[in-house]
Amino acid sequence: MPLPPLKLLSNRHVTVDFHRTRDRGFIVVPMTFTRREFAKLGALGFAARFAPPLFAQTTQRQTGYAIIGLGRIADIFMRGVKDSPNSKVTALVSGHRDKALRIAADYGVPESSIYSYDDFDSIVSNKTVDAVYVALPNSMHADFTIRAAKAGKHVLCEKPMAINVGECESMIAACKSASVKLMIAYRCHYESTNLKAVDLIRSGALGQVQAIETAFGFNERAGEWRLDKKLSGGGPLVDVGIYSLNATRYLTGEEPVSFSAFSSVIDQDGRFTSVEENLSWTMKFPSGVVASCATTYGGWMGGFFKVHGAKGWIDADPAFNYDGLHLHAQYSTDVGEFPHTVVDEANPQKNPYQFTAQANHFSNCIQNNLEPKTPGEEGLRDMSYITEIYRAAGISML
Ligand code: NAD
Repeated sequence: MPLPPLKLLSNRHVTVDFHRTRDRGFIVVPMTFTRREFAKLGALGFAARFAPPLFAQTTQRQTGYAIIGLGRIADIFMRGVKDSPNSKVTALVSGHRDKALRIAADYGVPESSIYSYDDFDSIVSNKTVDAVYVALPNSMHADFTIRAAKAGKHVLCEKPMAINVGECESMIAACKSASVKLMIAYRCHYESTNLKAVDLIRSGALGQVQAIETAFGFNERAGEWRLDKKLSGGGPLVDVGIYSLNATRYLTGEEPVSFSAFSSVIDQDGRFTSVEENLSWTMKFPSGVVASCATTYGGWMGGFFKVHGAKGWIDADPAFNYDGLHLHAQYSTDVGEFPHTVVDEANPQKNPYQFTAQANHFSNCIQNNLEPKTPGEEGLRDMSYITEIYRAAGISML
């Protein structure tokens, strides 16, 4: 049977879901391309290679999401969902009804599908809601994930998954017992620059990886919930350091086994009475790779990673921003030869493309009963390593 034509969503964008299943040996690369990029892919024969998942998507229904917490990341996620062919915002959950009403008008959400945190559980009877997106302060993730699961809704939960290992385990158990899917919003797993770095490393282009450097941090303003451990569960490590931690794992394909860490508070200005300001840590992996990582709430530390291998190096800088990602690499064909092949790739895709890719992926998993690439277990693993890092730094967790 001939394959249907690829769907052109607008003049500027064609969205495809390169959903590679394990059995077919593909990698999951859901993303949005400009018309020019898409034409390039077509010329390379990629479009034909991925045509069957495209067919699935053009005929798919839209998974309905209830957005829990209408803050900064929820706004970006909802804009990402707008660009997604298989996802839709169908309900809002907020403590501020006036704000929810304004946003509901933008997304065509009926007033009857606006909930408060208190009456959230009545969402069980809302048939337009298939899934929830949990975009609340970290200490509220577990409660709302478990309540959503009890209401029979699939859960896409923001990182960090929760504030300790016990909560992560309860969330996984609740979703399993309700037979709903749980995905943690690790957007870099669905982002093409990060995936290209992983592919280059796995292809052996860099030879044996020896070491990684990575950092991510920013100068946090006083008064933010992120500085209150009761709401955040920790400082920059759980908020943005987690990007570096998670990257070392997807870049190496290994799990860390040894940890060392130092933390400090330099600015005695009242912001760091309950969480750390700076944290630098190292992790050793079974192959012997050592990753040197840093995070801060006291300064500007653009999110990047650099991977050093026997035949060359690769860096993504920035690696974790919402857009403007840039990949550089130099490597040789033989160990001992000076690196000569140069990669210099700026990613032209614009925010919220990562959030569209993430929504595409989770909706596709829900609609086709597939396991998300970043399930609850992925969040749990990071939380267990965060526990080790804090222990090594002498910091207690909630
Ligand atoms: P935010 O402060 O902008 O939004 C938080 C929302 O929670 C607001 O709507 C607020 O009204 C609501 N809320 C309910 N109870 C609250 C309470 N007791 N205190 C404070 N707010 C309360 O935060 P954000 O930056 O959108 O972060 C939300 C979640 O998303 C966090 O878990 C964060 O780690 C995650 N996040 C992820 C990314 C990403 O790129 N994936 C980026 C930023 C934040």
